[in-house]
Amino acid sequence: MSAPVRRRVHVEGVVQGVGFRPFAYGLATELGLAGFVANDGGGVVLEIEGSEGGVAELLDRLGRMPPCHASIERIVPEWMAVRGEDGFAIAPSRDTTERGALVSPDRATCDDCLRELADPHDRRFGYAFITCNACGPRYTIVEDVPYDRAATTMARFTPCADCAREYDDPRDRRFHAQSIACPACGPRLALATADGTPIAGDPVAEAARLLRGGAIVAVKGLGGHHLTALASDATAVAALRTRKHREAKPFAVMVADVDGAHALAHLSDADEALLRDPRRPIVLCDVRDDAALAPAVAPGSRLVGLLLPYTPLHHLLLAAVGAPIVCTSGNASDEPIAFDDDDARSRLASIADAFLGNDRPIHAPADDSVARVVAGVPRLVRRARGWAPDPVRLPWDAERPILACGAGLKSTFCLASGSHAFVSPHIGDLDHPDAVQAFRDGVARWERLFGIEPAVVAHDLHPDYASTRYARAREGVERIGVQHHHAHVVACLVEHGECGPVIGVAFDGLGYGPDGSLWGGEFLVADAADFRRVAHLEQVAMPGGSTAVRQPWRMAAAHLAAIGEPTPRNLAVAERHATWWGPVLAGVKAGVNAPLTSSAGRLFDAASAILGIRDVAVYEGQAAAELEQRVDRAERGAYHAGIRDDATLRVRGGDLIAALVADLRAGEPVGRIAARFHNGVADAIARTCAAVREREGLAVVVLAGGVFQNAHLLVETTARLVARGFRVLAPARLPANDGAISIGQAAVAAARQDIRDGASRPATGAANGQEVTTCVR
Ligand code: ZN
Ligand code: ZN
Ligand code: FE
Repeated sequence: MSAPVRRRVHVEGVVQGVGFRPFAYGLATELGLAGFVANDGGGVVLEIEGSEGGVAELLDRLGRMPPCHASIERIVPEWMAVRGEDGFAIAPSRDTTERGALVSPDRATCDDCLRELADPHDRRFGYAFITCNACGPRYTIVEDVPYDRAATTMARFTPCADCAREYDDPRDRRFHAQSIACPACGPRLALATADGTPIAGDPVAEAARLLRGGAIVAVKGLGGHHLTALASDATAVAALRTRKHREAKPFAVMVADVDGAHALAHLSDADEALLRDPRRPIVLCDVRDDAALAPAVAPGSRLVGLLLPYTPLHHLLLAAVGAPIVCTSGNASDEPIAFDDDDARSRLASIADAFLGNDRPIHAPADDSVARVVAGVPRLVRRARGWAPDPVRLPWDAERPILACGAGLKSTFCLASGSHAFVSPHIGDLDHPDAVQAFRDGVARWERLFGIEPAVVAHDLHPDYASTRYARAREGVERIGVQHHHAHVVACLVEHGECGPVIGVAFDGLGYGPDGSLWGGEFLVADAADFRRVAHLEQVAMPGGSTAVRQPWRMAAAHLAAIGEPTPRNLAVAERHATWWGPVLAGVKAGVNAPLTSSAGRLFDAASAILGIRDVAVYEGQAAAELEQRVDRAERGAYHAGIRDDATLRVRGGDLIAALVADLRAGEPVGRIAARFHNGVADAIARTCAAVREREGLAVVVLAGGVFQNAHLLVETTARLVARGFRVLAPARLPANDGAISIGQAAVAAARQDIRDGASRPATGAANGQEVTTCVR
């Protein structure tokens, strides 16, 4: 037998809170190796001693078959002197100053835990906080790294003798599970009325009884509070809308299982797989006509957001209610999600009739993630619980630590260091002071958690975004302004591991251009560091400025005036707004509060209003979303938009409006017109890209910006581009909308740093050997 060897191995990546140490323990004892494993600030460290073959085998198996939720980035082995040790141990965490340990996201309750939950003979039967090494809260309870119980909000619960035994037993699946708990020693549920009076009886059974009786119950979950109501109860759901001041935006619905989801929506296999994903997003699905849902759940929408239970409490509650429940973020409209108990009680008291809470504090808020399958690919609309704080790998390194502050709506921030970009969970719209505070708190929490002290702060060019003001107020840092649509395009490059240059098509609501005008229908030749605007939608006035965002009929007036119809005959939209139509256009003519914009979102708004679908929007993008839902997918016709051939190409969106008006007057059905309009936009994008290719010789197109959440537009545009020989990159793992602006900013700042530091510019093409798996072809 060969002489024993000893190696010290540092494992980096998402390796804490995923059962890595028990896994390593099991391997080492199976292979008869001695030594120890411990968490440290940078990941996990092992020292292993034994036969050379055994040590090699352990390293091999660690790399090839890590525990299911671990994501190993790097294994760094080094040789050490043999100590002649016996046995293998899990050692206490080592406190090091390095803080690169990646915190695991929260995971839905696993099948093993569900079996115990339902087993009357198990000591955790019916226990709402059952977890193990494979599932349960992580990010939302972690106060600090390394991931040990003392550094989580579970620290206040001392394990009982039974839990301690499991914790110490290497054969147990709760061996060193930091969130281990049972009814004897762990967190407890409590049900109370809105004014805090405890409600007697079993909290889950009583909450279910209240829900079935039409009450609204606030339920504390993993990353915050939900507001719940019986999804089939028209009165309860309508009351929830009124009290929450949410007039139209669809509510998510939690169903007990996949069968429950099938009863409400038409699901593809990909929808079903996404629903079952342990990250448990809300999945936007096509609602069934016969779905037993109150009309107020998703008024005027063909889509409904469904999700499966992801905590033991959800499973218990759904079983007790016996029917789907509306499950929407615990907040009043536009505010960030309530996660602190006292805060929730005060903010939600006027909305909820009862509170189903518990005594396990939530340290970090995390809203539900939202995703939609388009063209067979799951695409995130909102990236939060389950995904955050998993890092996104940058195709080029951030040489100095970067904080990127994002945009104004659907706010996120991003911390980047080295090859890692950490994107915060969705925060909300920063026009609310509570959201700005949540943003500030989040930045401070993350800088500490990841040990990143930004030297560079990236921000939007818009001077009035709260995120820009925050960036301006940071002292002792270098600031880099990044154009909004450039950030959209680069965010998409990052997720595909590419560096450009590409033709970046950024279609969204509004973003500040370097010329101070409002952009939003842009064709950029872009790489990681820079861009040139090579084409855009023809500009049109936004009557009343931001008022036009909330009143799409104003965009209808502006677009009709732009095509020479300031007083359109027999168009219902002009008749509906007869009183203000003239004055609004007079304002445009006089140039009073009527900034010019090339926004694609506003073009869709105008079409939606002219077709009588949506005159006044209560949430961003509503008019366009409802227009998409009216599309007759069998219609293949497309309106034609001319392209003005200039130094910068200009796409005549007005041509589409003129054709739409002609069809409307000719009595064509709205579904057909909506389809021809969408197809016309897709066609115009493809022809413009072809014209840009002539000039620039680029054959890769990035489609980014909130307008590409429109599934029909994304599918039609991609098909036309591919038919013309383009390779197309579209957002999937990051949202198409402004939720991805922060990582785009961080990546641009990192690329510019590289250049300034004299490094060569990132190479064109796939970087780091990453495969381009999410391309739509
Ligand atoms: Zn489990
Ligand atoms: Zn216990
Ligand atoms: Fe945008």
